[in-house]
Amino acid sequence: MSHANIPVFIPHLGCPNDCVFCDQRTISGRESFREEDVATQIESALETMCGKVCEIAFFGGSFTGIDRELMIRLLDTAEEYVKSGRVSGIRMSTRPDYISDEIINIIKRYTLTEVELGIQSMSDRVLATARRGHTADDTRRAAKLLREAEIPFAGQMMVGLPGSSGEDELYCAGEICRMGASSYRIYPTVVFRGTCLAEMTRRGEYSPLTVDEAVSRSSEVLCVFETHGLRCLRIGLQDSENLHSEERYLAGPVHPAMGELVRGEVFLRHIEAQLSAEHMGQSLVFSVPFGKISAAAGHGGKNKSYLREKYGIKKIKFNEDAALSGFEVRVAELTL
Ligand code: SF4
Repeated sequence: MSHANIPVFIPHLGCPNDCVFCDQRTISGRESFREEDVATQIESALETMCGKVCEIAFFGGSFTGIDRELMIRLLDTAEEYVKSGRVSGIRMSTRPDYISDEIINIIKRYTLTEVELGIQSMSDRVLATARRGHTADDTRRAAKLLREAEIPFAGQMMVGLPGSSGEDELYCAGEICRMGASSYRIYPTVVFRGTCLAEMTRRGEYSPLTVDEAVSRSSEVLCVFETHGLRCLRIGLQDSENLHSEERYLAGPVHPAMGELVRGEVFLRHIEAQLSAEHMGQSLVFSVPFGKISAAAGHGGKNKSYLREKYGIKKIKFNEDAALSGFEVRVAELTL
């Protein structure tokens, strides 16, 4: 059965930080938050869910950093939906330095599916440049507290932050796995107007990644997560009007199918690793895991065209093989 989140965006509430990339109002697409609207919002979302397993997701800000009483009231409201069986659990996104013993003691009373930690980087240099206001050790401490309380957590990380290299990002992905995260999100850095990053871009102190660079860097970190068996929650920001609005979007890698591009790139690497001189000029069949044909063929058949051109492959066919998983690929000659 398919899963869906019922997002409840809480923009910037309680957040005294000023991360260089952040314009939460732009990302969440909502200017304000009214507690009294939350139940109505959940009810109308539930009407559209058609039997999907749903979680209520407190996203957009730093949920465990908001006013305690409000946080508890919101969790109580969400828990009522869990008790009535209409949603399966609660998730929330927050900063690593907003996880403490006190917070753990509160949140562990609720049916939490996952806490999403905005880790962004595990390099203190990159975190300082991004003005995150926390360190890599804060993240290690938060992960330890969540692990000890047996609360599953997801690691959100960014690629292309100012001063961040591909190596920094591979290290971050590895650390997220080693800290015991169960799932992950990868966000290529996008520059929104009105942010400090927009100023840095205008002054020439920051150059955003191109879409191709973001795909390449994200595919590297995705391979780390896949090797450790973590579940992918999302790659790239949710496509929204704001990302296409001249008023808000300034620069950076935005593509409506960022996740598909990244997964296609990973498949292409796996396919190329299987190819040798004997395959040149042949017609080939690639077996891929169930449901992965479109990802393996690449966005708009990009991988197919690339393979035809680079290896002179005459005919390419993709087969589903339920015995394969992840990004596994098997290659054989196509018998016509
Ligand atoms: S902590 Fe989150 S909400 Fe606060 S400024 Fe940073 S990214 Fe934005």
